[in-house]
This record gives sequence, structure tokens and C-alpha cells, in this order.
Amino acid sequence: MALAIRDVVRDMYIAGEWVEAPRRFPVTDPATLEVIAEVPDASVEEVRRAIEAAHGAFPAWSRLPADQRAEYLYKAYEAMLRRQDDLAELLTRENGKPLAEARGEVAIGAKFLQWHAEEAKRVYGDVVPSSAENRRVLVLRQPVGVVGAITPWNFPLSMITRKLGPALAAGCTAVLRPASATPLTAMAVFECFHEAGIPAGVANLVTTASASAVGDEFLANPLVRKIAFTGSTDVGKHLMRGAADQVKRVSLELGGHAPFLVFDDADLEQAAAAAITSRFRNAGQTCICANRLYVQRPVAERFSQLLAEKARALRVGYGLEPGVNVGPLINEQGFQKTRRHVEDALSKGATVLTGGKPSQTGLRGYFFEPTVLADVNHDMLVTREETFGPVLPVIPFNRDEEAVERANDTPFGLAAYLFARDVGRLFRVAESLEYGIIGANDPIPVGPQIPFGGYKQSGLGREAGAEGIHEFLEVKAVSIGL
Ligand code: NAP
Repeated sequence: MALAIRDVVRDMYIAGEWVEAPRRFPVTDPATLEVIAEVPDASVEEVRRAIEAAHGAFPAWSRLPADQRAEYLYKAYEAMLRRQDDLAELLTRENGKPLAEARGEVAIGAKFLQWHAEEAKRVYGDVVPSSAENRRVLVLRQPVGVVGAITPWNFPLSMITRKLGPALAAGCTAVLRPASATPLTAMAVFECFHEAGIPAGVANLVTTASASAVGDEFLANPLVRKIAFTGSTDVGKHLMRGAADQVKRVSLELGGHAPFLVFDDADLEQAAAAAITSRFRNAGQTCICANRLYVQRPVAERFSQLLAEKARALRVGYGLEPGVNVGPLINEQGFQKTRRHVEDALSKGATVLTGGKPSQTGLRGYFFEPTVLADVNHDMLVTREETFGPVLPVIPFNRDEEAVERANDTPFGLAAYLFARDVGRLFRVAESLEYGIIGANDPIPVGPQIPFGGYKQSGLGREAGAEGIHEFLEVKAVSIGL
């Protein structure tokens, strides 16, 4: 059933060259558990070489006029769209998400390059009125320097371009270390950079089985001025602590626990379809997935039935097969966590509206049935920890204030959703939610124009939007005595 992997490069990219490493590690298709490639396992020396290449390329790249840097990014954007089908297939093979979702990820990933190519030309400075007659004050914005970027497996392509797009546009150079589960898509992204003619050393790729070796080098090496990370809150905290020694800049896109609020005036059909999209895309392995669904009591029963019907209709299977909506979990650990969360909920009184157990697909990978739980309370793990699997707990509420209070009762603050028709209610609730991203009648509140990032323990800084490029810029004040 598995398609042959296309003839993709399987090497690292350092100083404009495809390079091997003495050791390699396997990459597995999570649907079949078949090993689909072996990729270089870099040593710390190779990571240092990549950092030095980025450092060497920085002076020329940072001085290049912004519209020339933008041209390179446009070319990479075009290369990515030309290869959309191949990239999507590769992404599905190593990540498991259905092909249609993978195609969508390639499209938005390419858009991050296009958007930041445009933003490169709008890094304006300021002339500030001075308090002294014989003084003029300028504010310049300059690139931070070498960026160490670390990305997760759940969006193997778009998390790369959402970092390297703004970094390169700002005039920074970079070393990327993708998740060990999904290095092939990263290599294909670098093929696009290579094809675009991005100068040697500007963007470098290292792959390793051991993440901490690279993380530690990014922290210790004084040539790295900034770390841009997407992943779990625990690893984010570790990097933030480590960055303190050299007061390194960090941007952190971390975990979430998104509440999804459905009010009694909502279009229930639309809200149910949106909840299904939000919770079950990427098999629930999305940082902005709905983790807890709160529905107002008068419509709770009807809405829960709608949800269960829609979840039951989803087809679980191999992402490359047409008509499949939900692929496998990335690995056994992810599968066991999902199972543990469901068992914990059931042991504390939850009931299953649909799903609730592993899915029998005939494949060796880790599949779980799209699951909707009722009779849920806040002692259950599903309502407190990120499940990162296809499980949706439903909890009724009475008053609007109660829903907002429950939604905010978490250390996370990445995304929250609300579905209602009343515009006053939409504004009041959106303004009260302590989250960086609000989907108001919108299940996927992401795009190149939308600043993405979290409140509280969901992170620091923003990617994309007008804000994204500023994470890679220092502010320099120049005070001129006349
Ligand atoms: P993770 O374990 O933190 O891994 C994320 C990345 O960090 C991977 O490349 C991983 O490499 C690497 N890593 C692990 N330990 C490291 C260390 N000590 N030093 C440096 N790098 C290290 O997270 P995950 O569980 O794979 O990913 C899912 C998490 O990411 C979820 O919590 C999700 O909410 C979050 N996420 C957030 C966003 C956002 O924008 N806020 C977007 C997507 C995902 P290996 O995989 O090779 O170990």
C-alpha cells in the first residue's frame, strides 16, 4: 500500500553543501511502523560547524538590501508550491496526517515565506522628537544575529517557515534542528532554499537523534544570539533557564489547553463541524486543538448528539488513502497518553458518546478512535493536561461568566474558541479570555497575517503577523548631538 518515497535528499545542509554524518538514524512511517529512511545523526562538531557557517554568512546577508533578501524568499515560496504534491506526500509518510491536511500545511508553510518576504521591506525605523534642541534621536531596527531554531514533528513544514521566513527576512542567519521524527520534510524545505539560490551559510540544517545535544550547544555557543523554539512547555522552560546564562533572546511557542465555548445562540451545526475540525485534525496533535468543550446547558444535549454523529462519521486510517480523516498518533508514547487520559476519565465517571478505544485499521501504527466524552469533571486529566490525541471532553455550563472563568482556569493561554451569534457577547467573551489567539466562529484562527503565540505558560513572543519579524530584530537608539 505504501508509496515509494520519492527521490529526496537525505542529508544535512551546512554552508551551502549537502553533508553526511558518520552515523545515521531511522525515520519511521507512524501508520505502518516501516522504516522509510536513514538520516544523518550529527555530532556536536557538525552542529558547531553549522553555527560557524551561519556566523560567517551573517555580515553579507544582514547588509543585503531587504528587497534582495525578499527575492530569495519569494523564490523559495515558488519552489515550495511547485513541489506541493511531493512535499505533502513526504509529510504524510513521516507524520501520518491525511494527505489533504498535508497539502494545506505546505500551502500555509509557503505563505509564511511569501508574507515575510513582503515584511522584509517594511522594517521601518523612527525619528523621535528629542527633548534637547541640539540633539536628534533615531531608532534603528537591526537583525539579532545567528538564530538556533528547533521545531516539532506535528507541523514538520510550517513551523520551519514560520521561524526561518521572518529570521531570514530580518537579515538573520540560522541553524535549524527539526524533530527527529520528521527530518525528511525539513530536508525537502532546504531543497527549496537551495533551489532559490539562498547564499551558502544563511540557512543550515542539522539532524540528530539526540535533541538535547543541539539544544545545549545552541545555549552554550556565544555565536548563537537567539533561540526560536516550538514544542512542549517543559522543554521551553529548560531552554529559557539555559538562555539566562548569556541572556540569550528566546521565542517560545509552547503547549496549550484550548477551551471551546458554545453558547446557546450559536449556529449549532456550524459549531459542531468546527469543533470536529479543531479537535480531530492531525489526530488531535495540534497545540491549538480544542481540549475542553464547554456548551451552554439549554443546547448541551442536542449539541453533544451532533458532535458524536460527526465524530462517528470520521474515517481513521492511512493518511495517503483517499477519504481518510484521521491518521495515526505519532508514536507509542502519544498513543499511551491518549489511552491513559480516556481510562482516567472513565474511572472518574465520564461516559463515552463515541469512540473510547484503539482503532482497528489492520495497520501496525498507533490509531485511536475519534472519541467524545460526556459527564466530565475538572478532576479528570483530559481537562487539565494536553491530551495530544483525538479525545473531546464535553462539559455543560449555565452562565457566560462561568464559562469564561472555567476557560481561564489553566496555566496555559495559547488558543481559545467561542461560538455565538450575538456580537456583544462575541466581543465581551473574546476580551475576557486570557489567550493569545481567539477563534470566534472560526476553528482555525491561523494565517500569515495573524500573530501566533500564547499568554501564560504557552510561550513568549509571536510568530507571523506584523509582529513576527520583530522577534528577530534588535532596537538600536542613535542619539546625535548637532
Ligand atoms: P517536545 O518534546 O518539546 O519537542 C519539540 C522539539 O524540541 C523537538 O524537535 C524535540 O526533538 C526538541 N527537544 C526535545 N528536548 C529538547 C532539549 N532538551 N533541547 C532542545 N530541543 C529539545 O514537544 P513534542 O511533544 O514533540 O511536541 C508537541 C508539543 O509542542 C505540544 O506541547 C504542543 O502543544 C507544542 N506545540 C506548540 C506550538 C505553538 O506554536 N505554540 C506548535 C506546535 C506544537 P525530538 O522530537 O527529536 O525529541
